[in-house]
Amino acid sequence: MSNYNHREAFCLMEYCCEECTHVEIIWNSRDGVAPSGTTCPSCGASMIHKNMWKDVVAVNHKLHKFQKFWRDEKDEEKRPMLDVKMENE
Ligand SMILES: [Zn+2]
Repeated sequence: MSNYNHREAFCLMEYCCEECTHVEIIWNSRDGVAPSGTTCPSCGASMIHKNMWKDVVAVNHKLHKFQKFWRDEKDEEKRPMLDVKMENE
C-alpha cells in the first residue's frame, strides 16, 4: 500500500483527448488530488484521466521538456489575479 494520503500522489498519469486522441502523460508533483481532466493542447477539447491502472508512482520523476505537471496553486495565482491576467491577454 501507499504511504501517501492520495491515491494519485506523485503519479505519472495518462490523459486522453476525447476528440482527437491526443495523449499526454502528466505528472502529479505532490501528495494531492490530481484533476480528472484538462484541456487538449491540440484541439481544445477535454482530456480525461484514463487507464488509471497505468498510473505509476514516480516520486523522483524528472520532467522532460514541456511535460505538464500538477502542483499546488501559489498565492499570486488566486482567482482575482487570474482575472487580471485574462484582461491583459
Ligand atoms: Zn484533442
